[in-house]
Amino acid sequence: MEEEKEQNQNNRQEDGKKNKIKLYTLLVMILALIAIIAVSIWLINTGNNKENNTISYTDLIKQIEEGKVEKVEMTVGSTSIKVKLQGQEEEKHAIVPNTQAFVELIQEKTLEGNVIELEQKSQNIFFSIFDYLFAILPTLLIVALFIVIMKMQGFGDKGKVYDAETTKSKIKFDDVAGLEEEKGEMLEIVDFLKEPKKFYDMGAKIPRGVLLCGSPGTGKTLIAKAIAGEAKVPFISMSGSEFIEMFAGLGASRVRKLFEKAKKIAPCIVFIDEIDAIGSRRTSGSGAETENNQTLNQLLVEMDGFDTEETIIVLAATNRPEMLDKALLRPGRFDRQITIALPDMKGREEILKIHAKGKKFAQDVNLKDIAGDTAGFTGAELANILNEAAILATIRKHEAITHEDIEDAVKKVTVGLERQSRVISDKDKKLTAYHEAGHAIVSSKLQTQKDIKEVSIIPRGMAGGYTMYKTNEDKYYISKTEMEEKLIALLGGRAAEKIALNDISTGASNDIEVATQIAKDMITKYGMSDNLGPISINTEKDPYELQLLGDKFGDAIGAEIKIMLDNAYLQAQTILANNMNQLNKVAHVLMEKEVISSEEFEKIIKE
Ligand code: ADP
Ligand code: ZN
Repeated sequence: MEEEKEQNQNNRQEDGKKNKIKLYTLLVMILALIAIIAVSIWLINTGNNKENNTISYTDLIKQIEEGKVEKVEMTVGSTSIKVKLQGQEEEKHAIVPNTQAFVELIQEKTLEGNVIELEQKSQNIFFSIFDYLFAILPTLLIVALFIVIMKMQGFGDKGKVYDAETTKSKIKFDDVAGLEEEKGEMLEIVDFLKEPKKFYDMGAKIPRGVLLCGSPGTGKTLIAKAIAGEAKVPFISMSGSEFIEMFAGLGASRVRKLFEKAKKIAPCIVFIDEIDAIGSRRTSGSGAETENNQTLNQLLVEMDGFDTEETIIVLAATNRPEMLDKALLRPGRFDRQITIALPDMKGREEILKIHAKGKKFAQDVNLKDIAGDTAGFTGAELANILNEAAILATIRKHEAITHEDIEDAVKKVTVGLERQSRVISDKDKKLTAYHEAGHAIVSSKLQTQKDIKEVSIIPRGMAGGYTMYKTNEDKYYISKTEMEEKLIALLGGRAAEKIALNDISTGASNDIEVATQIAKDMITKYGMSDNLGPISINTEKDPYELQLLGDKFGDAIGAEIKIMLDNAYLQAQTILANNMNQLNKVAHVLMEKEVISSEEFEKIIKE
């Protein structure tokens, strides 16, 4: 019953939007019609002139000089004139570029004795309106177009597309897998939204703002919607980037409108996604930064200005809480932070279970195994995998989704689509084969890297090939040894190119980028450098941190990163030099078969 009512309300809102759109379409159509009429009248008008009773201006002047013009008929404000020539019945039309000069010329000739009768008429009203309309038509059209665009962008209007989206969420906590503790913490907010009076009477202080921190796709929006759904209150959402897009100076007014609306429909949830887009640390800069400052200031004003009796909870999501302006985190604002981590094995299985609902699976599918194979995946990616698997199964005309469909969907989601259409030259193929073989052989000699799942030179997404590792266990900590070995494995591709082909290519750029980042993190984030000791330097959080420690320290970090990478590269080369036969063999099998499974790989290196 209640759901039906919600439905009606939604429909009515939809209808309102549609009516507005219709109105603008109508407006544009009317203007277009006017334009068409005006153009046709103009064409008919000029068309008449074009019949062979026209005379060119130079001809006209010649006729005047020769004294053959009897009479001239002019219309005020028009350059089109009628001329009667001697001995001719029919009047001729002509266009004079400068009417004033023309009149003077005729007066001059008349004074000279060459009499020309001049008749000046006032304008025909019918044509004058159209002339006038015609003149302002472009302006009108531009203005109309501008208005339509503005309306579409939601410029200062209530029924706009860019408006904060209000929905009645039907999502419940049961739709959110895992995250038990987080849901527990949110329960008090749900209670508060349901029965605010109880809390006010008790004098309890409820958090007004909650910051949800976590990578994209971990379910921050989902949990915010679930709170609204559980409490049966409306959910208003807007993305931080929407506040600052499009028109400058609009951010602050959008924030104001958002909260005006929230106050009207309270109790409700306001959800601001990507809050870092507006809430980054304030600077004294200009331009875009000032714009951000105004938007952020407005947000602070709004959050401080809640009446004690207003039941609005503001949830905001970010992936970079350390970037946020400290003022946002003060009491009464976003004073509670909840971190939403990547799902663990159990969480992944539960997420898969939720998204498996309504899908048909073959006997060989085991969601637990898939959960085991997808360490590091977000909820959004897992949902996406099952959807992709269902699509693949349909295309392949399977009765139900098979294990293979899911495996391929995992690959598709991780490394992008298989691009079989791309034609690869033999030279490129050889290079890629050695590169990937290099990763694989080097990895196989390293304790923490040796679990190889698949080596391939089939291009996927941006990568020319890939070496995939088995990821069966959930790791909470990564050891220094593992990170060092990861560096060696990453540089194995470049090392193989150098050793086998005596040349290096751009194909290793991503490996090198990742390796450099790992080395940097090891030294400046995890304090793993023997030389520099346990220290954390986060220049993103505080750009001046390095200055504090001194130039020498900065130089030492650079030197240390270089040593780490050089060492890893040397070790990768050493491993390959000692296993040239294996490298050649794997590369050749790759060139032949393009893909090597873990079993085949084991077999090749054991031979
Ligand atoms: P975020 O806001 O953190 O970027 P979303 O909440 O938009 O992520 O998540 C995107 C989608 O991923 C959700 O709509 C849902 O389908 C799926 N998802 C993410 N986390 C979970 C979860 N814990 N349980 C179920 N589905 C999830
Ligand atoms: Zn590589």
